[in-house]
Amino acid sequence: LVDDLLDVTRISRGKVELQRTRLDVRDGVRKTCDDHHALLERSGIEMRLDLPFSPVWVDGDPTRMSQVLGNLLHNAAKFTDAGGRVVVEVSSRDGWAEIAVRDSGAGIEPDDVERMFEAFAQGEQNLARTAGGLGLGLALVKGLVELHGGTVRARSEGRGRGCEFLVSLPAAARGQE
Ligand code: ADP
Repeated sequence: LVDDLLDVTRISRGKVELQRTRLDVRDGVRKTCDDHHALLERSGIEMRLDLPFSPVWVDGDPTRMSQVLGNLLHNAAKFTDAGGRVVVEVSSRDGWAEIAVRDSGAGIEPDDVERMFEAFAQGEQNLARTAGGLGLGLALVKGLVELHGGTVRARSEGRGRGCEFLVSLPAAARGQE
């Protein structure tokens, strides 16, 4: 929590510098999903990873990108009941590398979706789930994605209908030679 708070503060002050390198999004996503697999399994949530055949190049900071996906997976686990499902999908589209995280969990009221990216914003749903969080995870995700020149959007059909988070990062032309 303190780390999140420090990171959000540092980003808002322009104090976070990315250590960028040319990387294949598939590698980082595979690794971060592996790291979170146990957490999801313990919660009785099934995880599926959907990767394209071709590399998806970006100029990204691997540690920060893993922090972004890690936060989204952490939330997906927190807001999805046992028996639910989380799908992570990587794709390329029109010069963008996209990472989608979809869960079958608690969902967000459509009117609240935008606000959830503000620091300290939390949904009104059950306290049991939000307890232990400060509402900083998505603010951090947004800050880090924007530092990469990307965008993050969320969509939900409403309470109980699951969520989708879509991270789009500018694609790089090809791997480093
Ligand atoms: P925290 O998880 O600490 O509350 P976040 O910034 O990560 O903070 O999330 C803000 C709020 O957005 C959460 O409290 C929750 O209401 C909503 N939220 C985030 N991710 C999800 C999700 N996958 N499903 C349902 N609600 C979510």
